[in-house]
Amino acid sequence: MIKCETELRCGSKRVAVSCAIPKTAIWKPPFSGSRAALECAVILSLLKQRRRRRLRARPFPKEWLKLVQHHVVFFRRLSGGDRAELLGHIQVFLAEKRFEGCGGFAITDEVRVTIAAQACLLLLHRETDYFPGLLTILVYPLTYMAEEKRQIGEHVWQEGTVGRLGETGRRMGSLVLAWGAVKHGAADPSDAKNVVLHEFAHQLDYENHAGDGVPALETSEEQLAWSEVMRWEFASLRAADEGGIPTLLDRISRGVLRAATCVARLSPKSIRGTAKVFSTGSSRIFC
Ligand SMILES: [Zn+2]
Repeated sequence: MIKCETELRCGSKRVAVSCAIPKTAIWKPPFSGSRAALECAVILSLLKQRRRRRLRARPFPKEWLKLVQHHVVFFRRLSGGDRAELLGHIQVFLAEKRFEGCGGFAITDEVRVTIAAQACLLLLHRETDYFPGLLTILVYPLTYMAEEKRQIGEHVWQEGTVGRLGETGRRMGSLVLAWGAVKHGAADPSDAKNVVLHEFAHQLDYENHAGDGVPALETSEEQLAWSEVMRWEFASLRAADEGGIPTLLDRISRGVLRAATCVARLSPKSIRGTAKVFSTGSSRIFC
């Protein structure tokens, strides 16, 4: 954590501000070596945090609350404290992210609020920078078609058009969703399929610029510990699946492990399997 105290001017007023900021939340400019650059980054972070506190403290619009209550079934299952925290996060999320309709789809408050409520579930009870690599959410009405080139064996690639419900990427700055799947995921938590949680779990994973199933952690010791625990647990899950032994994920959905194992087999030297467990498991466990 970096502790900072400074004074901000607001018209003729001067306001003293102090706070502690996690290192991972500070934007680093390209010339980040100098003290002036660090001070600049800290002040920008303070301003951003102040703006977000104000957004979270705003009364939540009644029309939006009706939309959350109507479309997002898990909302009723949250405690009062979690609901209040979630509604605050939704206000920040909607103020900072841009939505664009694709394929003639019109973006409405219903679309924005339903997506935001599900995405922000992943932000509860943690320090958050609100998916910092994500600027725009693109929404198609239903399943959309995309060109895909994928490896199906060593030196063998397959090209073709595939139907998708959602996607995001580490350097895309955007996230794509099919509204039909978004609504279905929000309305039926029991089927353990939620494309919003899945794609936004990828965005959490990208916060440390790696996309390896490891979230942004402050120290190298924490990163190492996370990697070791995930590798060990993933290996245990694969062994249990191959041995037909039921696991927690089996009880939720056997498809999780199958998807993860499939990815891991395609790329055995990487830890992409654990990344898949992180994103796919998130969409199952939170539902
Ligand atoms: Zn994915």
